[in-house]
Amino acid sequence: MAMKTPIYLDNHATTALDPRVLEAMMPFLTAQFGNAASNHSFGVAAREAVESAREQVAALISADASEIVFTSGATESNNLALKGLAHAEGRTAGHIISSVTEHRAVLDPLAVLQRQGFDVTLLPVDSAGLISPEQVSEAIRADTFLVSVMAANNEIGTLQPISEIGAICRQRGIVLHTDAAQAAGKVSLDVDALDVGLLSFTAHKIHGPRGAGALYVRRRNPRVRLMPQIDGGGHEGGLRSGTLNVPAIVGLGAACAIAREGWAAEAEQLVMLRDRLRSRIQQGVVDARVNGPSDCRLPNNLNMSFPGIEGEALLIGLHDVAVSSSSACTSGLREPSHVLKALGLPDELAYSTLRFGLGRFNTADEIDWAADRVIETVQSLRALATPGSPGG
Ligand SMILES: *Cc1c(COP(=O)(O)O)cnc(C)c1O
Repeated sequence: MAMKTPIYLDNHATTALDPRVLEAMMPFLTAQFGNAASNHSFGVAAREAVESAREQVAALISADASEIVFTSGATESNNLALKGLAHAEGRTAGHIISSVTEHRAVLDPLAVLQRQGFDVTLLPVDSAGLISPEQVSEAIRADTFLVSVMAANNEIGTLQPISEIGAICRQRGIVLHTDAAQAAGKVSLDVDALDVGLLSFTAHKIHGPRGAGALYVRRRNPRVRLMPQIDGGGHEGGLRSGTLNVPAIVGLGAACAIAREGWAAEAEQLVMLRDRLRSRIQQGVVDARVNGPSDCRLPNNLNMSFPGIEGEALLIGLHDVAVSSSSACTSGLREPSHVLKALGLPDELAYSTLRFGLGRFNTADEIDWAADRVIETVQSLRALATPGSPGG
């Protein structure tokens, strides 16, 4: 069987649109173009599609449809959750707890809140990237009103103990927000079992389209109130104004319905392929090291360092395997990832790191082929670095 290259192994960055999602979206990109706020038949059709997507989204996380706010993605959901709660009910100060390995879409809004006078504590993580419920307990102060901890990390796949943290927050009357952009569709997410007040996720990480996301906002037991961050026509219960992106919302709904049906079987398949990739690479590169947890890990995540090799050089050598180096390019300077640094990884190892993110459409043949390319590339880079050694 001929295999199509390049092989896509960067599913933490974004995922391919599932053909079933595209099919669900198509009518709303063509004949059914109505504005969901209009009262004629075009508008009614759009509105019905949006409300049925809201049911599908809510079902994935065992929420009520009335608790789902549509946004443009997880970045916007996180901004609405964090800034919206901080500024709700006339609040101007107070204490927020989060962790050092959060995505920039949490860290950056928190930095803004800090500049506005809020106190922010970022908890350190252990060598697997985990924070403990005890750390959260100990960090809580009388004025703590918000804890934000990601459900799953986008670089090393760490699954945080959200339900234990949620129980602590509930007991202390604090709202727990979780960024579930990577966890959605990969692990079980039930807003009551997790005891979260706010939960963010996005369509394009679960084989849906770019530009649609959701924020779960708890309505009862207790109700969570937010200050809107975008004002306009009062859409989405006044929490997020702006004409709804109907095709993308329909796509998000379809992606959630597919994920709800198939996530468990898919997770098993992903673990099998991920472990195959890891052991094959380790056979070929004996000193390759795995970063992140051995348990409590996303089924599709593998993060490996290759001592003595520049991650960027590896990426260039691996031109037909789409993976990510873990370094972030901030204002033209390459910096080792803040997540790997938080694990205590020395800079030179952090720079030698690749992140593999497997997805729904990867096959065992692709995994074997990609593993062989990684091994070859590491060997040839090492041969270059050591003139006269065999293998070059
Ligand atoms: C991708 C990602 C985001 C950002 O999501 P967008 O929909 O692209 O805004 C936020 N948090 C995590 C953990 C992510 O992986």
